Order: sequence, then C-alpha cells, then structure tokens
Amino acid sequence: MPASTSGLAGSADVSPGLDREGDPRIELIGVRKVFPGRQAEVIAVEGADLSVADGELFAILGPSGSGKTTVLRMIAGFEQPTAGTIRLGGTDVTTAPPQRREVNTVFQDYALFPHLTVGQNVEYGMKVRGVAKAERRRRAADALDMVRLTEHGDRRPEQLSGGQRQRVALARALVGRPRVLLLDEPLGALDLKLREQMQVELKAIQRDVGITFVIVTHDQDEALTLCDRLAVFNAGRIEQVGGAREVYENPANRFVADFVGTSNVVDGTAAQTLVGRTGTFAVRPEQIAVLPPGSAAGPGTRTVEATVAEVIYAGPLTRVTSTAAGTAVTATVLTSRTSLPAGLAHGSPVVLSFPDSAVHPLNS
Ligand code: ADP
Ligand code: MG
Repeated sequence: MPASTSGLAGSADVSPGLDREGDPRIELIGVRKVFPGRQAEVIAVEGADLSVADGELFAILGPSGSGKTTVLRMIAGFEQPTAGTIRLGGTDVTTAPPQRREVNTVFQDYALFPHLTVGQNVEYGMKVRGVAKAERRRRAADALDMVRLTEHGDRRPEQLSGGQRQRVALARALVGRPRVLLLDEPLGALDLKLREQMQVELKAIQRDVGITFVIVTHDQDEALTLCDRLAVFNAGRIEQVGGAREVYENPANRFVADFVGTSNVVDGTAAQTLVGRTGTFAVRPEQIAVLPPGSAAGPGTRTVEATVAEVIYAGPLTRVTSTAAGTAVTATVLTSRTSLPAGLAHGSPVVLSFPDSAVHPLNS
C-alpha cells in the first residue's frame, strides 16, 4: 500500500473539536523524540517549541537529518513524542492516533494509484469511508478545481506531468477538508524550473483554500519563496523562527546565517577591521559594493581595502571574492556596466563598501 494511505483515511468527517478563538492551529511544547539506535539512541528532535497560526503557510527548513520529517510525523500522529506536548487548535493530541487529527499529509513520492484515474485517486479515501457517490464526485471535482486540474479527472497518473501529479496528490489530500496540510519535501521530485513554477502555484493554492500548510524542505530558496514564516532546524533543534525576511536579514546565529542564503561571517581581528567592533557578525554578499581603489566612505557606510581573488560571472549577477583583513569576503553584484570597476580580475585592488545597517551581530 502507498505510504500515504493512513493520510488518505484521515481527517475528513472528524468532529471539529473544541477550538477556541485565538488558539494556534499547531502547537509544539518542549517536544523531544528519541529513537533507539544500534549503538546509541538517536535524538531526532530536542526541545522543540513551535506555534503555527491558523491559515499560515509555515516552512520547516533544515539540512538532511535535522529532524524535519520526524516533527511532521509527530504532528500527523504517525510518531509519538518521547516528551512534550502537541496541540491542534488548542486540543492536546500528543497521544491521539492520526485519524483523530484534522491533519493530512502529502508525501514526496505522491503515492498515486497508477490504475485509477485522477478523479478516482482523489475519491479513493472518501470511497473507503463510504461517502455516497454523488457527494464523492462533487467533492473530488471541487478539489480538482482547487489545484486547477478541472479538465484532467479522466486521465491516468502516467498521462500527467510531474507537476500535475503533484497537484493530484494535493487534491487528494485537500478533499478530506483537513484543517492542516503537511507536505514533506513536496517538490523534491521535480526539476528546478518546474519546482519554481510549483512554488508559486502551491502558494496560490494555499491562499485560495486558506488552510494551514506546513511544508518541509531542505531548500532555503524554496522556504523563503513559499512561506509566511519558517523554523530553521539544525541537529534536532530549532535555531530560529520568524518571517522569511526577518530570518534572512537578521539571522540569529552562525548556523542560520550560513544555511539561509550565503553570508560573510566574520569574528576576531577580521571583525575589528571589517566591522570596527568586536564580536561575530554576518554581512550578506548582496549588501557589499565593489568600488575602485581609493573610494571613500559615505556617511553610515564602512569601506575596507581588499584584493580580488576571484570574479565569477553568473548571468545577471557576478560574484566577486576578495581578501580583506586576511579573510575571504564575497560580494554579489549586478552584472551591469556601472556596478563593477572595469577590468576586474584576480589581484585587482578594490574597496569593499557596505552600509552599517548591513552588519548583523550573531550570537555565536
Ligand atoms: P530530516 O527529515 O530532517 O532529514 P529526520 O526527521 O528524517 O530528518 O531524521 C532525524 C534523525 O532521526 C536522523 O538522524 C534519522 O536518522 C533519525 N531517525 C528518523 N527516523 C528514525 C527511526 N524510525 N529510527 C531511528 N532513527 C530515526
Ligand atoms: Mg525528511
């Protein structure tokens, strides 16, 4: 059976619960998950506190093995936390089975039945639960409308593109009217171009249906593109929670600064020279201008003399790595005639310039 069968059977026709106004849709309080391992136990999730509001598009971002899937599975009820509490709409569901939660899951491989049509795939879960045929048809048609596959109900999965299959899986998960949809690396099987299209579509669909989406991804661009807010996971712990822009522009620590986008992280004497202060700081590459030698600082701007190590042309952007105060500093500048000194190459003397506001102190 496909992995998502339990998800198929879940969510619909579950009593709406005792939601109180203003309760978060999803709440994790001190959640810990330990798996027994062969040699030592594996702490998959440690001390996770998280609150997702109703209707939010929330992303869980982190590298492979950081505990993302485990968190999703605990929210869905496929795993129980070793410690801590999970609430949905204010109700404690920590030990409730999946079918008692108004949650559905879309898995990465879609798990569509190849021998059924698109419409039958979407109706399947309702059929299993004994929903009458006319009602099934109506709800499946609604769900296919939602994912803009109105005309594709009679096709088989093999007659669809990867992106369309993804949307069938989405329709099948939405048809049970869950309060929460969990998506584990939903676009991971698609090539880059299609993935970018689907990111936009997924966001539009979420806006239309208005239910809470939690999307797991290891792709920082995807998380930033899609989400309202995100949690950054690292080795089972949440490093930062915030709006996409907030996390990108104000990373809480070195891990977030490195993982979400690229950052120049400086400390020690390099920080003294570049930033003029002691501590650890992050400066985003796109905040740094590369100027001809001798350029002076304007008000609220820092300048540092540097020597170019490498100039990499990447279409609309050019990446310039240079050495300043003994540290490699990367600047990303627009590839336009005016944004870079002429003839820039390895060994060119330059001045790097960035506004004081581009300097973000890090905790560690
Ligand atoms: P992610 O989805 O971020 O890649 P996972 O949540 O799948 O990470 O895994 C987090 C950690 O927990 C990993 O070290 C993984 O090997 C371990 N893990 C996950 N599921 C199990 C399991 N059923 N048994 C043992 N270890 C597990
Ligand atoms: Mg995973």
